[in-house]
Amino acid sequence: MRKVDVLIIGAGAAGMMAAAEAGKRGRSVVLVDHAKKAGDKIRISGGGRCNFTNVNASYKQFLSENPRFAISPLKRFSAQDFIARVRDRKITFHEKTLGQLFCDDSAQQIIDMLLDDLRAAGVELKLQTTVQHVEKTDNGFVVELDGERVEVEKLVVATGGKSIPKMGATGFGYDLAKQFGLRLVETRPGLVPLTFDQSTLEPIKALAGVAIDPVQVRHAKTRFDEALLFTHRGLSGPAILQISSFWREGDQIGVNMLPCDDVFALLRLARQENGKRAVQTILNALLPKRVVEFLLAQQKLSGNLADLSDKKLRNLAQQIQDWQVKPTGSEGYRTAEVTLGGVATDELDNRTMEAKKVAGLYFIGEVVDMTGWLGGYNFQWAWSSAWVAGQAL
Ligand SMILES: Cc1cc2nc3c(=O)[nH]c(=O)nc-3n(C[C@H](O)[C@H](O)[C@H](O)COP(=O)(O)OP(=O)(O)OC[C@H]3O[C@@H](n4cnc5c(N)ncnc54)[C@H](O)[C@@H]3O)c2cc1C
Repeated sequence: MRKVDVLIIGAGAAGMMAAAEAGKRGRSVVLVDHAKKAGDKIRISGGGRCNFTNVNASYKQFLSENPRFAISPLKRFSAQDFIARVRDRKITFHEKTLGQLFCDDSAQQIIDMLLDDLRAAGVELKLQTTVQHVEKTDNGFVVELDGERVEVEKLVVATGGKSIPKMGATGFGYDLAKQFGLRLVETRPGLVPLTFDQSTLEPIKALAGVAIDPVQVRHAKTRFDEALLFTHRGLSGPAILQISSFWREGDQIGVNMLPCDDVFALLRLARQENGKRAVQTILNALLPKRVVEFLLAQQKLSGNLADLSDKKLRNLAQQIQDWQVKPTGSEGYRTAEVTLGGVATDELDNRTMEAKKVAGLYFIGEVVDMTGWLGGYNFQWAWSSAWVAGQAL
């Protein structure tokens, strides 16, 4: 039976980073993935330009039973550390908004950088390889791959979440955690478009394709000021993806379509200045035309400002600034960018990402109960947790 120091399952962002770090330290490393290519999610991320980190990354942008678990890994390998590597590699990038860094050219540049690091570190990359069975031994693990049994000292699970099964996502990492008696935090889709029942959907159907930028979306005390997009199935766009990670079935969300204005005061002032103008004309200057038509139809309003009482203006303003909608669900793992939940952080040591009760077993990246907001935080978690593990393998 072949013996190697480290076997890593999953050649995504986290797996590639950890493998290169361990290889650099002289460890013999095998990195396996059942996909045809490494780093598929990196390739499609950020609209093909990979939002590879966020300059503001801290534990505060993460959802987890214990977000503070991320403090030490994010400090030891920070956004600045990853940016330094991107700069060394001469990959040019730009800040799009809110600290989000994207490649100027293509996400493939990040994959190529990681693949080169693997080669330089002497890592053996085995693609289209399935892990059949994992067994604990006194000194480590025996891992059965297609047609090959490998004896390893350290086993790293970097299989990501369940999002986008079409791209090879599986629940494998969670099953392995269960096999070794580790606690899991319930998983659910995050950063995902929200869907609605027919009665809510019918009046907004005509808005499919329309965007409002920015809106403020609220759920309990959480707020995001980003763009909203109406779709055939419901609502999407960054603001909705962000709030979807906080939303639970049965909850309502509030949408303020004009977060920077006091719409009631604005409408009253417009009426006072010139009541002969149509309410539609005033709103068309503030919101997309189709949205205005929807709002006026909902309120059964038309005509000149002078014809509208304070009460009617207040109701209209309220619908614009506090539109309450109750999603019935989400588009699910089919389109979710991330999976919330996963291997409970209290099962792991954040100095190494090793399981506290199973020596030699590590979990890194999205398979762990640590989920970032939209905006480069999820890759930063993958890099940071993987780097930390890489130093301990
Ligand atoms: C459409 C989309 C866009 C995104 N854009 C961004 C972005 O711009 N910025 C950002 O920060 N985050 C983004 N994300 C999230 C980000 O891609 C993930 O959080 C990140 O890839 C997680 O890294 P990982 O290495 O833990 O898992 P992954 O990158 O998912 O890698 C897991 C690997 O494990 C392999 N695997 C799974 N099961 C098995 C098995 N049983 N055997 C062998 N191999 C297996 C998979 O094939 C995969 O290669 C996006 C996600 C999606 C879906």
